[in-house]
Amino acid sequence: MKTAIITGGLGFIGSNLIRALTQNNYFIINIDKISYASNIKNIFSDIKNYKFYKLDINQKDKFIDIVKKYNPDKIFNLAAETHVDRSIENPKNFIKSNILGVFCILESLREYKKSNKKKIKLIHISTDEVYGDIKLGKKSIETDRYNPSSPYAASKASSDLLIYSYIRTYKIPAIITNCCNNYGPGQFPEKLIPTIIYNLIKDNNIPIYGNGKNMREWIYVDDHCDALIKVSDQGILGEQYNVGSGIKLNNIEVTKKIISLFKKINNKHCNSKIIFVKDRPGHDVCYSLNSSKIKQKTKWRPKNSFDIGIKKTIEWYIEKFDTSFFNKKNYGKRIGLIK
Ligand code: NAD
Repeated sequence: MKTAIITGGLGFIGSNLIRALTQNNYFIINIDKISYASNIKNIFSDIKNYKFYKLDINQKDKFIDIVKKYNPDKIFNLAAETHVDRSIENPKNFIKSNILGVFCILESLREYKKSNKKKIKLIHISTDEVYGDIKLGKKSIETDRYNPSSPYAASKASSDLLIYSYIRTYKIPAIITNCCNNYGPGQFPEKLIPTIIYNLIKDNNIPIYGNGKNMREWIYVDDHCDALIKVSDQGILGEQYNVGSGIKLNNIEVTKKIISLFKKINNKHCNSKIIFVKDRPGHDVCYSLNSSKIKQKTKWRPKNSFDIGIKKTIEWYIEKFDTSFFNKKNYGKRIGLIK
């Protein structure tokens, strides 16, 4: 049995990754500070080989104690502030978790390495947003220059670069992955897809930023988790891997597809309409990834079409979302507008 520390394992992708790892014979240590984005359903009381620590990754001494206690084979770092609008509203939290937090993890690994022969692999989960806006029809590759637009993207870009410096200088065994937009069960309803589904469930109108033409590549979360496990086993240390599905849709296309599927699944009349609202400041028009490298190296392929993934997602929200999150007050509240 392998041992893995997951940071941010009460969040959207981390919780789905924990489920995937337990099916691959892992002992899991989940470290999460428990924030508004954490999911109560992710306490994992049904999993045997599992430990949870309520901890901010910035608490370096406690973090290193956990690392020394369990001597994990891998650390998957998913602890982060993740919502672009929140980063526009309050960038400081993003610097703290996404840059200083990663610095603490790196320092812990540097300290661990001084007295331990075991190589702990760090898998750092980053985003396509580090590459910034690209022209329609183009795709970002791993060697492209970073060009982040939001404080969120800049904080992720910073942590990627910090990790590169620790790989080179201190020989920390790390791999960085840059994934496109995820969707699936358990995402806090402030990002596009859970916001659409939430409003459909409540029969509210669906707010779309700007003209709705912003294009993203969309991956079902299980496919991302599968890629992370494959990269952690087969990826080359010190390298970076893009993870994309190849499924590109603009926000209006996403919304229309979800409305149509929601009506079929729910089988009742729905009054929700699309309404266009003021755009996000600095809103990137298009992200798209070239994911040839991971496909060649690990033979990973995404398995879920958008229709299949969205069906599973809608079903989860209809059944579970009302009782899932710690913070019920801020669903749908607009933030991140510069006055
Ligand atoms: P999320 O916001 O749903 O969950 C993040 C979790 O991390 C929360 O449970 C939160 O409590 C925890 N956390 C935050 N700061 C912490 C800290 N300082 N110490 C301990 N725990 C902390 O996020 P997500 O969507 O699951 O994203 C996970 C990672 O994947 C992030 O690094 C994000 O940048 C990256 N990513 C996300 C997407 C996406 O579409 N969601 C796409 C590409 C990459």
